[in-house]
Amino acid sequence: MSDTVLDGAYEALRLYRHGAFSVVCPTCHVPAGELCLTRRSVHAGRRRAHRESTQGHTLLPLLAGRPR
Ligand SMILES: [Zn+2]
Repeated sequence: MSDTVLDGAYEALRLYRHGAFSVVCPTCHVPAGELCLTRRSVHAGRRRAHRESTQGHTLLPLLAGRPR
């Protein structure tokens, strides 16, 4: 992937606070919605923090899928 494409992809993810960009980075301490200080990569700790923040979340909330 070219640098321009990669930068664009990160910029879109950051703008919409998608994925790892929805949480604060525990490594470089940038707030949600900001790129990591490494710019062209996301710290592993941030990816982990995002994974942990979404654990137990389902696309369809459990109550909505419960039979009446
Ligand atoms: Zn970071």
